[in-house]
Amino acid sequence: MTQATHTCPDCGISHTILHSTGMTDKAPLVCTECLRTAVPEPPGGWPVVSRWIGGSRGRGVTARDGFAKGDTIERCWVMPLSVEESAQTLTMPVLNRYLFPWFDNLRVIVSGNGLLYNFDKLEVTKREPNSECVLRRGISAIEFRALRGIQPGEEITWDYQRARAKIR
Ligand SMILES: [Zn+2]
Repeated sequence: MTQATHTCPDCGISHTILHSTGMTDKAPLVCTECLRTAVPEPPGGWPVVSRWIGGSRGRGVTARDGFAKGDTIERCWVMPLSVEESAQTLTMPVLNRYLFPWFDNLRVIVSGNGLLYNFDKLEVTKREPNSECVLRRGISAIEFRALRGIQPGEEITWDYQRARAKIR
């Protein structure tokens, strides 16, 4: 066995792990704690409903079940474009608008309902967002998490300027 130090791509913490001698796998290793905090998708799917909200909001995402503060509302896997493709999209505003800025100058396509959550920010819409978007670099996903208790039927919104990387 040999010891090696890896930096978890999700939380940025370096961990010393034991390798079988001769192991050369260089794939990024997500630490146990980060895997633990990626709660499994519920058997019935993420408990949200995307639907027509109306007014200037168009479509949106509402809670099917209630959420407690800190609950994961939905995990959306992301699919990165190559660096070259990501750079090209910057000159295509129509397309770029629907891509999500990622790490290392990458842009990603977001799965699930990820693009349908509406924006809220007190100064702009007069409403506080009830969720936040957490970037999970290590598992190639974004997660929407409840910032407070959310009732069934409530619309789930977040402040688009406040996506943040997972912190320790
Ligand atoms: Zn980690």
